[in-house]
Amino acid sequence: MALQRTFSIIKPDATERNLTGAVNAKIEEAGLRIIAQKRIQMTRGQAETFYAVHKERPFFGELVDFMISAPVVVQVLEGEDAIVKYRDVMGATNPEQAAEGTIRKAFAKSIGENSVHGSDAAETAALEIAQFFSGNEIVG
Ligand code: ATP
Ligand code: MG
Repeated sequence: MALQRTFSIIKPDATERNLTGAVNAKIEEAGLRIIAQKRIQMTRGQAETFYAVHKERPFFGELVDFMISAPVVVQVLEGEDAIVKYRDVMGATNPEQAAEGTIRKAFAKSIGENSVHGSDAAETAALEIAQFFSGNEIVG
């Protein structure tokens, strides 16, 4: 498997509890490299664009409100098979179903406030990275 990049967000429930470093430790322990990172306050427009795929879902409004409720840390992660590897490290969307050792098992508060986002495919990873980073901000 080739070297791959994925997009990550450390969500408001984690930044609020000062867990940025703890999440990053799990990312690095898994063999992923943080090759770009910045802490931002997402705008409503950015959050709506980012989660547009879910706009018809009943939780969409709640999700957007949550994503702008506090700062987030956006990241680009690089490694072998990075997209699937990060999804494995994150754990299931619902922390009650997340495996031991995963970020969501350790830190997530609920299915909505679940500490991290990770891209689900190569195409979405490229789009998500481009939404938040310019090329010269990514140093692999
Ligand atoms: P993400 O896209 O954030 O990495 P995911 O791919 O595991 O998470 P999705 O199905 O894409 O899960 O849902 C996107 C996000 O929407 C979830 O991470 C969670 O924050 C929120 N969400 C999903 N399902 C629910 C729900 N039933 N109630 C409230 N919020 C939800
Ligand atoms: Mg998703």
